[in-house]
Amino acid sequence: MTASDDLPAETDVVVVGGGVMGTATAFFLSRAGEDVVLFERDRLAAGSTGDSSAILRHHYGDEAIYTDLARWSHEFYRRFEAETGAPIAHAESPLVRFADEGTPGGAYAMAGYEVLSDRDLPVSRYDGAQLRERYPMYDGAAAYDFAVSDDAAAYSDGSDVAQGFARGATDRGASVHTGVAVESIETDAGRVTGVRTDAGTVACESVVVAAGPWTPELAETVGVDVPIEPVREQILLLDPPADYAERYPDLTPTTSLPGGQWYVRPDVGGGVLVATHRHDEPTDPDEYDDSPDEETVLELVETLAEHVPGLADAGIKGSYCGVYSTTPDHDFVIDAAGPAGCFWCCGFSGHGFKHGPAVGKLTAGMVCGEDPTFDGVEIDRSYFSLDRFDDTPDGNGRPDDYI
Ligand SMILES: Cc1cc2nc3c(=O)[nH]c(=O)nc-3n(C[C@H](O)[C@H](O)[C@H](O)COP(=O)(O)OP(=O)(O)OC[C@H]3O[C@@H](n4cnc5c(N)ncnc54)[C@H](O)[C@@H]3O)c2cc1C
Repeated sequence: MTASDDLPAETDVVVVGGGVMGTATAFFLSRAGEDVVLFERDRLAAGSTGDSSAILRHHYGDEAIYTDLARWSHEFYRRFEAETGAPIAHAESPLVRFADEGTPGGAYAMAGYEVLSDRDLPVSRYDGAQLRERYPMYDGAAAYDFAVSDDAAAYSDGSDVAQGFARGATDRGASVHTGVAVESIETDAGRVTGVRTDAGTVACESVVVAAGPWTPELAETVGVDVPIEPVREQILLLDPPADYAERYPDLTPTTSLPGGQWYVRPDVGGGVLVATHRHDEPTDPDEYDDSPDEETVLELVETLAEHVPGLADAGIKGSYCGVYSTTPDHDFVIDAAGPAGCFWCCGFSGHGFKHGPAVGKLTAGMVCGEDPTFDGVEIDRSYFSLDRFDDTPDGNGRPDDYI
């Protein structure tokens, strides 16, 4: 990571954004032998990545494309230090979906069960009386018909991962510049020729924009429309009472109860993280209130206590807010559009972190003209194309809000 006055005059590829997606892309590009310069206007992981709950799940209902990306990514995360030279946090925490038969949530839970089973990913189903026994801290568990557990789910840390990918990229020759903002993409005769930054201009053949909720601003400089709406989400870090932690050393499975637009997971250091997942509060990513609203704090604490009475007296040891870059269908944008040499990697809609390694490889492959194949599994990149919004503003349709 270097100071801005060391800007190179030219490079093959400029990557804009030092979140998980930009750093992962820079890593895979430099591993492929490309000359890469990454610009981050603030510090690494300053955007959604640093606020991410970093849950690594594989269950995506019947959207097998995400299960395939998540599986490949999670395997990469497990060997992250060997790949990049940098260690990351990684804690196992099965993700459980409580559900009732004959409901959309029940159908979603079972669709994912089938997809995971087909791929030999560890998955369990618990029925009726087994629920109370398996999840004794959840008072209402027995009221559900069944639960599906994504047994190999885990969580990590966004900042660790962005720092690690940046280190892996610089070790392979990339240069990473923090505190440098890209102001526009320069073109000539329909081709990218460089980027103008607040510290000077760099000539390049290709530019990958992975600027999270700020991507539409840069897209406008080359006449590309990227439909991203930034939305604010609110997070609390709880300190469970000592007797609760003694009784339930795993604290809680990662879960989001039916109908709840919130989720909970254990946190490093014996804490519990509870957060909204609502996609309903459009916000300005430069000027949002970083403190959760009083009424939301109360709602989260009371709802959690209703389901997990042992956490009723948990103290609040921290809180913050973060921004999702939401597309109309909650699917990603990984595509080439606009002037030749312009690539877009954005719109991760509150569920991108777990796919970071695969997205980095997919994006780097798109720049280098490689097939989107992951250990023999072909990924249909058109699912993430920008032109899916041409015919209908809903794109792939059916956004789901499950975690
Ligand atoms: C509260 C919260 C919880 C989440 N939980 C999960 C989860 O549990 N599991 C999961 O899979 N996903 C989760 N996500 C989603 C995931 O974190 C995001 O999808 C992912 O971090 C997006 O990464 P990114 O690199 O695209 O964007 P960002 O991390 O936002 O990075 C974009 C970067 O670009 C920089 N930038 C912007 N404009 C410029 C410019 N002009 N020049 C230079 N730099 C620029 C910004 O400073 C920023 O650092 C969560 C997100 C949030 C906010």
